[in-house]
Amino acid sequence: MDLNHVEASLCFPTFPRFCGQTFAEAHDKEVALACVRAYNDWMVEEWCGDSGGRLIPLCIIPLWDIDLAVAEIRRNAARGVKAVTFSEIPTHLGLPSIHSGYWDPFFAVCQETGTVVNMHIGSSSQMPARRAYDCGWQRRLYDAGYADVHWDASPTQRLIFLEETERAGAPYVGANFVGLLHAGPTVAAEGTPEQRARWLPPVLRGDEVWCQGFSEPGAGSDLASLRTKAVRDGDAYVVTGQKIWTSHAEVADWCELLVRTDPEAPSKHRGITWLAMPMDAPGITVRPLRTLAGSTEFAEVFLDEVRVPVENRVGDENDGWRVTMVTLSFERGTAFVGEVVACRRLLGELARTARKNGSWDDPVLRRRLGRLAAEFQALWRLVQANVSEAQATGGVPGAGGSVFKLHYSHARQELYEAAAAVLGPDALDLGRDWTLDRLSSLSYTIAAGTSQIQRNIVAERILGLPKGR
Ligand SMILES: Cc1cc2nc3c(=O)[nH]c(=O)nc-3n(C[C@H](O)[C@H](O)[C@H](O)COP(=O)(O)OP(=O)(O)OC[C@H]3O[C@@H](n4cnc5c(N)ncnc54)[C@H](O)[C@@H]3O)c2cc1C
Repeated sequence: MDLNHVEASLCFPTFPRFCGQTFAEAHDKEVALACVRAYNDWMVEEWCGDSGGRLIPLCIIPLWDIDLAVAEIRRNAARGVKAVTFSEIPTHLGLPSIHSGYWDPFFAVCQETGTVVNMHIGSSSQMPARRAYDCGWQRRLYDAGYADVHWDASPTQRLIFLEETERAGAPYVGANFVGLLHAGPTVAAEGTPEQRARWLPPVLRGDEVWCQGFSEPGAGSDLASLRTKAVRDGDAYVVTGQKIWTSHAEVADWCELLVRTDPEAPSKHRGITWLAMPMDAPGITVRPLRTLAGSTEFAEVFLDEVRVPVENRVGDENDGWRVTMVTLSFERGTAFVGEVVACRRLLGELARTARKNGSWDDPVLRRRLGRLAAEFQALWRLVQANVSEAQATGGVPGAGGSVFKLHYSHARQELYEAAAAVLGPDALDLGRDWTLDRLSSLSYTIAAGTSQIQRNIVAERILGLPKGR
Protein backbone atom coordinates (compact mmCIF):
# COMPACT_ATOMS: atom_id res chain seq x y z
CA MET A 1 0.00 0.00 0.00
CA ASP A 2 1.21 3.50 -0.81
CA LEU A 3 1.65 5.21 2.54
CA ASN A 4 0.78 8.55 0.96
CA HIS A 5 -2.82 7.46 0.97
CA VAL A 6 -2.69 7.12 4.72
CA GLU A 7 -0.95 10.46 5.16
CA ALA A 8 -3.49 12.21 3.04
CA SER A 9 -6.35 10.54 4.79
CA LEU A 10 -5.05 11.58 8.17
CA CYS A 11 -5.09 15.24 7.14
CA PHE A 12 -8.87 15.32 6.99
CA PRO A 13 -10.19 12.06 8.42
CA THR A 14 -13.87 12.95 8.27
CA PHE A 15 -14.06 15.45 5.46
CA PRO A 16 -14.21 13.05 2.48
CA ARG A 17 -17.34 11.40 3.85
CA PHE A 18 -18.87 14.83 4.19
CA CYS A 19 -18.04 16.01 0.67
CA GLY A 20 -18.77 12.66 -0.94
CA GLN A 21 -22.18 12.41 0.54
CA THR A 22 -23.42 15.93 1.01
CA PHE A 23 -22.52 17.32 -2.40
CA ALA A 24 -23.19 14.17 -4.40
CA GLU A 25 -26.65 13.88 -2.89
CA ALA A 26 -27.51 17.57 -3.22
CA HIS A 27 -30.49 18.33 -5.49
CA ASP A 28 -29.06 21.53 -6.91
CA LYS A 29 -25.91 20.42 -8.73
CA GLU A 30 -24.91 23.94 -9.69
CA VAL A 31 -24.73 24.96 -6.06
CA ALA A 32 -22.96 21.69 -5.21
CA LEU A 33 -20.31 22.40 -7.87
CA ALA A 34 -19.88 25.96 -6.60
CA CYS A 35 -19.33 24.53 -3.09
CA VAL A 36 -16.75 22.03 -4.30
CA ARG A 37 -14.85 24.73 -6.16
CA ALA A 38 -15.08 27.20 -3.28
CA TYR A 39 -13.72 24.57 -0.90
CA ASN A 40 -10.83 23.77 -3.25
CA ASP A 41 -10.04 27.46 -3.73
CA TRP A 42 -9.90 28.01 0.00
CA MET A 43 -7.82 24.89 0.44
CA VAL A 44 -5.29 25.96 -2.20
CA GLU A 45 -4.90 29.32 -0.50
CA GLU A 46 -4.66 27.87 2.98
CA TRP A 47 -2.47 24.81 2.42
CA CYS A 48 -0.58 25.10 -0.81
CA GLY A 49 1.93 27.52 0.64
CA ASP A 50 5.22 26.31 1.99
CA SER A 51 4.45 23.75 4.69
CA GLY A 52 7.84 22.10 4.32
CA GLY A 53 6.16 18.97 2.99
CA ARG A 54 4.33 18.39 6.26
CA LEU A 55 0.86 18.86 4.78
CA ILE A 56 -0.61 17.29 1.68
CA PRO A 57 -3.07 19.62 -0.04
CA LEU A 58 -6.13 17.49 -0.70
CA CYS A 59 -8.92 18.50 -3.05
CA ILE A 60 -12.46 17.21 -3.50
CA ILE A 61 -14.28 16.55 -6.76
CA PRO A 62 -17.81 16.65 -8.12
CA LEU A 63 -18.26 12.87 -7.85
CA TRP A 64 -21.53 12.92 -9.76
CA ASP A 65 -20.07 13.99 -13.13
CA ILE A 66 -16.92 12.36 -14.46
CA ASP A 67 -16.09 15.19 -16.92
CA LEU A 68 -16.44 17.85 -14.23
CA ALA A 69 -14.36 15.67 -11.92
CA VAL A 70 -11.54 15.41 -14.47
CA ALA A 71 -11.63 19.17 -15.08
CA GLU A 72 -11.47 19.86 -11.34
CA ILE A 73 -8.41 17.61 -10.92
CA ARG A 74 -6.62 19.45 -13.72
CA ARG A 75 -7.58 22.87 -12.35
CA ASN A 76 -6.28 22.05 -8.88
CA ALA A 77 -3.17 20.10 -9.87
CA ALA A 78 -2.03 23.15 -11.84
CA ARG A 79 -2.21 25.15 -8.59
CA GLY A 80 -0.16 22.75 -6.45
CA VAL A 81 -2.72 20.29 -5.11
CA LYS A 82 -1.14 16.91 -4.46
CA ALA A 83 -4.06 14.63 -3.60
CA VAL A 84 -7.77 14.11 -4.06
CA THR A 85 -10.34 12.42 -1.85
CA PHE A 86 -12.40 9.68 -3.34
CA SER A 87 -15.34 7.71 -1.99
CA GLU A 88 -14.31 4.17 -1.02
CA ILE A 89 -17.62 2.70 -2.16
CA PRO A 90 -19.15 4.91 -4.88
CA THR A 91 -22.06 2.47 -5.21
CA HIS A 92 -23.23 3.57 -1.74
CA LEU A 93 -23.81 6.98 -3.27
CA GLY A 94 -25.67 5.52 -6.24
CA LEU A 95 -22.59 5.92 -8.50
CA PRO A 96 -20.91 3.27 -10.71
CA SER A 97 -18.57 0.80 -9.00
CA ILE A 98 -14.88 1.57 -8.76
CA HIS A 99 -14.28 -1.55 -10.87
CA SER A 100 -16.37 -0.25 -13.76
CA GLY A 101 -14.74 1.61 -16.63
CA TYR A 102 -16.72 4.73 -15.67
CA TRP A 103 -13.94 6.06 -13.44
CA ASP A 104 -11.06 5.40 -15.90
CA PRO A 105 -10.76 9.08 -17.02
CA PHE A 106 -10.55 10.09 -13.36
CA PHE A 107 -7.72 7.65 -12.60
CA ALA A 108 -6.00 8.59 -15.87
CA VAL A 109 -5.95 12.32 -15.05
CA CYS A 110 -4.70 11.58 -11.54
CA GLN A 111 -1.84 9.57 -12.98
CA GLU A 112 -1.06 12.23 -15.57
CA THR A 113 -0.95 15.05 -13.00
CA GLY A 114 0.68 13.01 -10.20
CA THR A 115 -2.37 13.44 -7.95
CA VAL A 116 -2.57 10.84 -5.16
CA VAL A 117 -6.03 9.29 -4.80
CA ASN A 118 -7.06 9.20 -1.16
CA MET A 119 -9.66 6.51 -0.61
CA HIS A 120 -11.52 7.35 2.57
CA ILE A 121 -10.98 4.04 4.27
CA GLY A 122 -11.10 5.33 7.84
CA SER A 123 -14.83 4.85 8.26
CA SER A 124 -14.92 1.66 6.28
CA SER A 125 -16.96 -1.32 7.27
CA GLN A 126 -14.62 -3.36 5.07
CA MET A 127 -12.20 -5.00 7.45
CA PRO A 128 -9.08 -5.16 5.21
CA ALA A 129 -9.43 -1.43 4.53
CA ARG A 130 -10.03 -0.81 8.22
CA ARG A 131 -6.88 -2.75 9.08
CA ALA A 132 -4.80 -0.85 6.53
CA TYR A 133 -5.95 2.48 7.96
CA ASP A 134 -5.56 1.55 11.64
CA CYS A 135 -2.14 -0.04 11.11
CA GLY A 136 -1.03 2.91 8.97
CA TRP A 137 -1.83 5.23 11.87
CA GLN A 138 -0.09 2.94 14.39
CA ARG A 139 2.98 2.91 12.15
CA ARG A 140 3.04 6.69 12.15
CA LEU A 141 2.88 6.74 15.94
CA TYR A 142 5.72 4.23 16.04
CA ASP A 143 7.88 6.24 13.64
CA ALA A 144 7.21 9.36 15.71
CA GLY A 145 8.42 7.57 18.87
CA TYR A 146 5.06 7.30 20.62
CA ALA A 147 4.39 3.55 20.37
CA ASP A 148 6.40 2.49 23.41
CA VAL A 149 3.98 4.33 25.64
CA HIS A 150 1.75 1.26 25.62
CA TRP A 151 4.04 -0.94 27.69
CA ASP A 152 7.24 0.83 28.63
CA ALA A 153 5.62 3.89 30.15
CA SER A 154 3.86 4.00 33.52
CA PRO A 155 0.04 3.64 33.62
CA THR A 156 -0.21 7.38 34.34
CA GLN A 157 1.92 8.31 31.33
CA ARG A 158 -0.19 5.97 29.19
CA LEU A 159 -3.34 7.68 30.41
CA ILE A 160 -1.93 11.10 29.55
CA PHE A 161 -1.03 9.82 26.08
CA LEU A 162 -4.55 8.45 25.51
CA GLU A 163 -6.12 11.65 26.78
CA GLU A 164 -3.98 13.91 24.60
CA THR A 165 -4.33 11.85 21.40
CA GLU A 166 -8.07 11.63 21.86
CA ARG A 167 -8.30 15.35 22.55
CA ALA A 168 -6.37 16.02 19.36
CA GLY A 169 -8.96 13.95 17.47
CA ALA A 170 -6.38 11.29 16.50
CA PRO A 171 -7.71 8.07 14.93
CA TYR A 172 -9.08 5.32 17.15
CA VAL A 173 -6.95 2.18 17.75
CA GLY A 174 -9.58 0.16 15.79
CA ALA A 175 -8.21 -3.18 14.55
CA ASN A 176 -5.31 -2.81 17.02
CA PHE A 177 -7.66 -2.83 20.02
CA VAL A 178 -6.83 -6.38 21.14
CA GLY A 179 -3.11 -6.25 20.36
CA LEU A 180 -2.45 -2.86 21.92
CA LEU A 181 -4.92 -2.76 24.76
CA HIS A 182 -5.23 -6.27 26.19
CA ALA A 183 -3.32 -9.11 24.44
CA GLY A 184 -0.15 -7.00 24.28
CA PRO A 185 -0.37 -5.87 27.93
CA THR A 186 -0.97 -9.52 28.94
CA VAL A 187 2.12 -10.71 27.06
CA ALA A 188 4.06 -7.79 28.57
CA ALA A 189 2.95 -8.77 32.08
CA GLU A 190 2.94 -12.58 31.83
CA GLY A 191 5.07 -13.57 28.81
CA THR A 192 8.68 -14.75 28.77
CA PRO A 193 11.39 -12.40 27.48
CA GLU A 194 11.38 -14.37 24.17
CA GLN A 195 7.61 -14.02 23.83
CA ARG A 196 7.75 -10.30 24.56
CA ALA A 197 10.51 -9.88 21.96
CA ARG A 198 8.57 -11.90 19.36
CA TRP A 199 5.07 -10.44 19.75
CA LEU A 200 5.23 -6.94 21.12
CA PRO A 201 7.35 -5.00 18.57
CA PRO A 202 5.16 -5.99 15.56
CA VAL A 203 2.04 -4.81 17.42
CA LEU A 204 3.70 -1.50 18.23
CA ARG A 205 4.82 -1.08 14.61
CA GLY A 206 1.31 -1.79 13.32
CA ASP A 207 2.63 -4.87 11.48
CA GLU A 208 0.55 -7.52 13.26
CA VAL A 209 -3.07 -7.51 14.39
CA TRP A 210 -4.46 -9.68 17.19
CA CYS A 211 -7.94 -11.00 17.88
CA GLN A 212 -9.49 -12.51 20.99
CA GLY A 213 -10.73 -16.12 20.93
CA PHE A 214 -12.37 -16.38 24.33
CA SER A 215 -16.17 -16.67 23.87
CA GLU A 216 -17.80 -19.84 22.54
CA PRO A 217 -21.39 -20.78 21.89
CA GLY A 218 -22.39 -21.76 25.45
CA ALA A 219 -19.43 -20.04 27.10
CA GLY A 220 -19.76 -16.25 27.13
CA SER A 221 -20.59 -14.94 30.60
CA ASP A 222 -19.65 -18.32 31.99
CA LEU A 223 -16.33 -18.24 30.18
CA ALA A 224 -14.76 -20.97 32.30
CA SER A 225 -17.19 -23.47 30.72
CA LEU A 226 -15.30 -23.26 27.43
CA ARG A 227 -14.96 -26.53 25.56
CA THR A 228 -12.42 -25.92 22.79
CA LYS A 229 -9.89 -28.61 23.60
CA ALA A 230 -6.14 -28.74 23.18
CA VAL A 231 -4.31 -32.05 23.31
CA ARG A 232 -0.55 -32.10 23.66
CA ASP A 233 1.27 -33.83 20.79
CA GLY A 234 5.05 -33.48 21.06
CA ASP A 235 5.98 -29.81 20.84
CA ALA A 236 2.50 -28.66 19.82
CA TYR A 237 -1.07 -28.46 21.12
CA VAL A 238 -3.67 -29.84 18.72
CA VAL A 239 -6.70 -27.56 19.07
CA THR A 240 -10.28 -28.41 18.07
CA GLY A 241 -13.45 -26.44 18.76
CA GLN A 242 -15.32 -23.23 17.97
CA LYS A 243 -15.08 -19.61 19.02
CA ILE A 244 -17.63 -16.88 18.40
CA TRP A 245 -17.82 -13.04 18.44
CA THR A 246 -14.10 -12.98 17.61
CA SER A 247 -13.53 -9.30 16.81
CA HIS A 248 -11.18 -8.59 13.84
CA ALA A 249 -10.62 -12.33 13.23
CA GLU A 250 -10.97 -11.72 9.49
CA VAL A 251 -7.81 -9.59 9.41
CA ALA A 252 -5.88 -10.88 12.43
CA ASP A 253 -2.42 -12.45 12.40
CA TRP A 254 -2.64 -13.79 15.96
CA CYS A 255 -5.36 -14.90 18.34
CA GLU A 256 -5.22 -14.86 22.13
CA LEU A 257 -6.92 -18.21 22.53
CA LEU A 258 -8.35 -19.98 25.58
CA VAL A 259 -8.40 -23.77 25.41
CA ARG A 260 -9.24 -26.62 27.76
CA THR A 261 -6.12 -28.68 28.40
CA ASP A 262 -7.41 -30.72 31.36
CA PRO A 263 -11.04 -31.83 31.08
CA GLU A 264 -10.64 -33.84 34.34
CA ALA A 265 -9.50 -30.89 36.48
CA PRO A 266 -11.38 -30.67 39.81
CA SER A 267 -12.75 -27.24 38.91
CA LYS A 268 -13.54 -25.93 35.41
CA HIS A 269 -11.31 -22.91 36.05
CA ARG A 270 -8.24 -25.06 36.56
CA GLY A 271 -8.05 -26.90 33.23
CA ILE A 272 -7.66 -23.84 30.98
CA THR A 273 -4.57 -22.63 29.07
CA TRP A 274 -3.84 -19.28 27.31
CA LEU A 275 -2.25 -19.70 23.85
CA ALA A 276 -1.15 -17.37 21.07
CA MET A 277 -2.44 -18.98 17.88
CA PRO A 278 -1.15 -17.90 14.44
CA MET A 279 -4.26 -17.21 12.36
CA ASP A 280 -2.67 -18.64 9.18
CA ALA A 281 -2.25 -22.12 10.72
CA PRO A 282 -3.94 -24.93 8.75
CA GLY A 283 -7.34 -25.97 10.14
CA ILE A 284 -8.69 -22.47 10.92
CA THR A 285 -11.90 -21.32 9.23
CA VAL A 286 -13.10 -17.75 9.83
CA ARG A 287 -16.74 -17.03 9.01
CA PRO A 288 -17.51 -13.28 9.35
CA LEU A 289 -20.72 -12.22 11.12
CA ARG A 290 -22.45 -9.06 9.92
CA THR A 291 -23.54 -6.61 12.59
CA LEU A 292 -26.63 -4.43 12.71
CA ALA A 293 -24.44 -1.52 11.55
CA GLY A 294 -23.37 -3.48 8.46
CA SER A 295 -19.76 -4.27 9.35
CA THR A 296 -18.14 -7.70 9.64
CA GLU A 297 -16.00 -6.72 12.60
CA PHE A 298 -16.46 -10.04 14.31
CA ALA A 299 -16.62 -13.66 13.21
CA GLU A 300 -17.13 -17.28 14.08
CA VAL A 301 -13.83 -19.17 14.14
CA PHE A 302 -13.80 -22.93 13.60
CA LEU A 303 -10.72 -24.86 14.70
CA ASP A 304 -10.07 -28.29 13.26
CA GLU A 305 -6.94 -29.94 14.67
CA VAL A 306 -4.94 -26.71 14.54
CA ARG A 307 -1.33 -27.19 15.69
CA VAL A 308 -0.15 -24.45 18.03
CA PRO A 309 3.49 -24.67 19.21
CA VAL A 310 3.86 -25.26 22.96
CA GLU A 311 6.26 -22.29 23.06
CA ASN A 312 3.22 -20.09 22.24
CA ARG A 313 1.70 -20.78 25.68
CA VAL A 314 1.60 -17.78 28.00
CA GLY A 315 1.76 -18.89 31.65
CA ASP A 316 1.77 -22.53 32.65
CA GLU A 317 -0.41 -25.30 31.26
CA ASN A 318 -3.77 -25.24 33.10
CA ASP A 319 -2.88 -21.83 34.60
CA GLY A 320 -4.74 -19.99 31.85
CA TRP A 321 -7.58 -18.73 34.05
CA ARG A 322 -5.15 -16.63 36.08
CA VAL A 323 -3.66 -15.22 32.86
CA THR A 324 -7.21 -14.59 31.58
CA MET A 325 -7.97 -12.49 34.65
CA VAL A 326 -4.97 -10.32 33.72
CA THR A 327 -6.29 -9.95 30.15
CA LEU A 328 -9.80 -9.08 31.33
CA SER A 329 -8.54 -6.61 33.90
CA PHE A 330 -6.80 -4.71 31.08
CA GLU A 331 -9.83 -5.06 28.80
CA ARG A 332 -12.28 -3.76 31.40
CA GLY A 333 -9.97 -1.49 33.37
CA THR A 334 -8.02 0.54 30.83
CA ALA A 335 -8.92 -0.44 27.25
CA PHE A 336 -11.83 2.00 27.04
CA VAL A 337 -10.35 5.00 28.82
CA GLY A 338 -9.50 6.95 25.65
CA GLU A 339 -13.16 6.66 24.69
CA VAL A 340 -14.25 8.57 27.80
CA VAL A 341 -12.32 11.58 26.52
CA ALA A 342 -13.95 11.10 23.11
CA CYS A 343 -17.41 10.99 24.72
CA ARG A 344 -16.73 14.24 26.57
CA ARG A 345 -15.73 15.85 23.25
CA LEU A 346 -18.86 14.47 21.57
CA LEU A 347 -21.02 15.83 24.36
CA GLY A 348 -19.60 19.30 23.69
CA GLU A 349 -20.38 18.87 19.97
CA LEU A 350 -23.90 17.77 20.82
CA ALA A 351 -24.50 20.84 22.98
CA ARG A 352 -23.28 23.06 20.10
CA THR A 353 -25.62 21.27 17.65
CA ALA A 354 -28.51 21.66 20.11
CA ARG A 355 -27.84 25.40 20.34
CA LYS A 356 -27.85 25.66 16.54
CA ASN A 357 -30.97 23.63 15.84
CA GLY A 358 -33.06 25.06 18.67
CA SER A 359 -33.42 21.90 20.77
CA TRP A 360 -31.35 23.66 23.45
CA ASP A 361 -34.49 25.65 24.32
CA ASP A 362 -35.92 22.48 25.87
CA PRO A 363 -35.03 22.55 29.62
CA VAL A 364 -35.44 18.77 29.91
CA LEU A 365 -32.84 18.22 27.20
CA ARG A 366 -30.46 20.74 28.79
CA ARG A 367 -30.77 18.92 32.12
CA ARG A 368 -30.15 15.61 30.35
CA LEU A 369 -26.96 16.88 28.72
CA GLY A 370 -25.85 18.46 32.00
CA ARG A 371 -26.33 15.19 33.86
CA LEU A 372 -24.34 13.36 31.17
CA ALA A 373 -21.52 15.90 31.45
CA ALA A 374 -21.39 15.24 35.21
CA GLU A 375 -21.47 11.48 34.58
CA PHE A 376 -18.51 11.59 32.18
CA GLN A 377 -16.61 13.91 34.50
CA ALA A 378 -17.12 11.34 37.29
CA LEU A 379 -16.05 8.51 34.96
CA TRP A 380 -12.88 10.36 34.12
CA ARG A 381 -12.10 10.76 37.83
CA LEU A 382 -12.78 7.03 38.28
CA VAL A 383 -10.33 6.24 35.48
CA GLN A 384 -7.71 8.37 37.18
CA ALA A 385 -8.32 6.60 40.51
CA ASN A 386 -8.08 3.14 38.85
CA VAL A 387 -4.90 4.07 37.03
CA SER A 388 -3.32 5.40 40.25
CA GLU A 389 -4.23 2.14 41.94
CA ALA A 390 -2.77 0.11 39.05
CA GLN A 391 0.41 2.15 39.24
CA ALA A 392 0.74 1.41 42.95
CA THR A 393 0.11 -2.32 42.52
CA GLY A 394 2.43 -3.23 39.65
CA GLY A 395 0.56 -2.02 36.57
CA VAL A 396 -2.35 -4.48 36.33
CA PRO A 397 -5.77 -2.84 36.95
CA GLY A 398 -7.92 -4.34 39.72
CA ALA A 399 -11.62 -5.18 40.09
CA GLY A 400 -12.37 -1.41 40.03
CA GLY A 401 -12.23 -1.83 36.24
CA SER A 402 -15.64 -3.53 36.47
CA VAL A 403 -17.16 -0.46 38.17
CA PHE A 404 -15.78 1.66 35.35
CA LYS A 405 -16.90 -0.72 32.56
CA LEU A 406 -20.40 -0.97 34.04
CA HIS A 407 -20.92 2.81 34.30
CA TYR A 408 -19.13 3.70 31.10
CA SER A 409 -21.13 1.33 28.88
CA HIS A 410 -24.44 2.68 30.22
CA ALA A 411 -23.32 6.33 30.03
CA ARG A 412 -22.25 5.79 26.42
CA GLN A 413 -25.67 4.44 25.53
CA GLU A 414 -27.36 7.38 27.25
CA LEU A 415 -25.11 9.80 25.34
CA TYR A 416 -26.26 8.37 22.00
CA GLU A 417 -29.90 8.36 23.10
CA ALA A 418 -29.52 12.05 23.95
CA ALA A 419 -27.89 12.57 20.53
CA ALA A 420 -30.95 11.03 18.89
CA ALA A 421 -33.16 13.50 20.79
CA VAL A 422 -31.02 16.42 19.57
CA LEU A 423 -30.72 15.26 15.95
CA GLY A 424 -34.38 14.31 15.52
CA PRO A 425 -35.13 12.52 12.20
CA ASP A 426 -31.44 12.89 11.14
CA ALA A 427 -30.61 10.35 13.83
CA LEU A 428 -32.10 7.69 11.54
CA ASP A 429 -29.77 8.52 8.65
CA LEU A 430 -27.40 5.55 8.34
CA GLY A 431 -24.90 7.66 6.44
CA ARG A 432 -24.07 9.61 9.60
CA ASP A 433 -21.38 8.61 12.07
CA TRP A 434 -23.71 9.45 14.96
CA THR A 435 -26.26 6.88 13.79
CA LEU A 436 -23.74 4.07 13.35
CA ASP A 437 -22.11 4.88 16.68
CA ARG A 438 -25.52 4.84 18.36
CA LEU A 439 -26.15 1.35 17.00
CA SER A 440 -22.73 0.14 18.10
CA SER A 441 -23.21 1.65 21.58
CA LEU A 442 -25.82 -1.06 22.16
CA SER A 443 -23.05 -3.67 22.18
CA TYR A 444 -21.10 -1.99 24.98
CA THR A 445 -23.19 -3.50 27.77
CA ILE A 446 -22.42 -6.98 26.33
CA ALA A 447 -18.83 -6.87 25.02
CA ALA A 448 -15.98 -7.53 27.49
CA GLY A 449 -18.48 -9.06 29.93
CA THR A 450 -22.14 -8.08 30.28
CA SER A 451 -23.39 -5.54 32.82
CA GLN A 452 -24.90 -8.34 34.92
CA ILE A 453 -21.49 -10.04 35.10
CA GLN A 454 -19.79 -6.76 36.06
CA ARG A 455 -22.40 -6.33 38.81
CA ASN A 456 -21.64 -9.86 40.07
CA ILE A 457 -17.91 -9.01 40.18
CA VAL A 458 -18.55 -5.75 42.03
CA ALA A 459 -20.86 -7.54 44.49
CA GLU A 460 -18.48 -10.41 45.19
CA ARG A 461 -15.00 -8.92 44.90
CA ILE A 462 -15.53 -5.34 46.03
CA LEU A 463 -18.57 -5.45 48.32
CA GLY A 464 -17.76 -8.93 49.70
CA LEU A 465 -21.28 -10.28 49.14
CA PRO A 466 -21.73 -14.07 48.98
CA LYS A 467 -20.77 -15.75 45.70
CA GLY A 468 -23.52 -16.87 43.32
CA ARG A 469 -23.69 -20.57 42.57
C1 LIG B 1 -19.20 -5.95 20.06
C2 LIG B 1 -18.78 -7.23 20.70
C3 LIG B 1 -17.47 -7.66 20.52
C4 LIG B 1 -17.07 -8.86 21.09
N1 LIG B 1 -15.79 -9.27 20.85
C5 LIG B 1 -15.38 -10.44 21.35
C6 LIG B 1 -14.07 -10.92 21.05
O1 LIG B 1 -13.30 -10.30 20.32
N2 LIG B 1 -13.71 -12.11 21.55
C7 LIG B 1 -14.52 -12.84 22.37
O2 LIG B 1 -14.08 -13.89 22.82
N3 LIG B 1 -15.77 -12.43 22.66
C8 LIG B 1 -16.22 -11.24 22.17
N4 LIG B 1 -17.49 -10.81 22.44
C9 LIG B 1 -18.38 -11.69 23.19
C10 LIG B 1 -18.73 -11.20 24.59
O3 LIG B 1 -17.64 -11.33 25.46
C11 LIG B 1 -19.94 -12.04 25.04
O4 LIG B 1 -21.02 -11.74 24.16
C12 LIG B 1 -20.34 -11.74 26.45
O5 LIG B 1 -19.37 -12.19 27.35
C13 LIG B 1 -21.71 -12.39 26.79
O6 LIG B 1 -21.72 -13.73 26.48
P1 LIG B 1 -22.90 -14.36 25.62
O7 LIG B 1 -23.08 -13.53 24.41
O8 LIG B 1 -22.60 -15.81 25.46
O9 LIG B 1 -24.21 -14.18 26.52
P2 LIG B 1 -24.69 -15.11 27.74
O10 LIG B 1 -23.51 -15.42 28.58
O11 LIG B 1 -25.45 -16.26 27.17
O12 LIG B 1 -25.64 -14.16 28.51
C14 LIG B 1 -27.01 -13.96 28.16
C15 LIG B 1 -27.64 -13.07 29.22
O13 LIG B 1 -27.64 -13.73 30.50
C16 LIG B 1 -27.04 -12.93 31.49
N5 LIG B 1 -26.26 -13.75 32.43
C17 LIG B 1 -25.48 -14.80 32.12
N6 LIG B 1 -24.91 -15.29 33.23
C18 LIG B 1 -25.34 -14.53 34.26
C19 LIG B 1 -25.10 -14.54 35.68
N7 LIG B 1 -24.28 -15.41 36.24
N8 LIG B 1 -25.72 -13.61 36.43
C20 LIG B 1 -26.56 -12.69 35.87
N9 LIG B 1 -26.83 -12.64 34.55
C21 LIG B 1 -26.23 -13.55 33.76
C22 LIG B 1 -26.08 -12.02 30.70
O14 LIG B 1 -25.81 -10.84 31.41
C23 LIG B 1 -26.88 -11.76 29.42
O15 LIG B 1 -27.80 -10.73 29.63
C24 LIG B 1 -17.94 -9.62 21.88
C25 LIG B 1 -19.25 -9.18 22.08
C26 LIG B 1 -19.68 -8.01 21.49
C27 LIG B 1 -21.10 -7.57 21.70
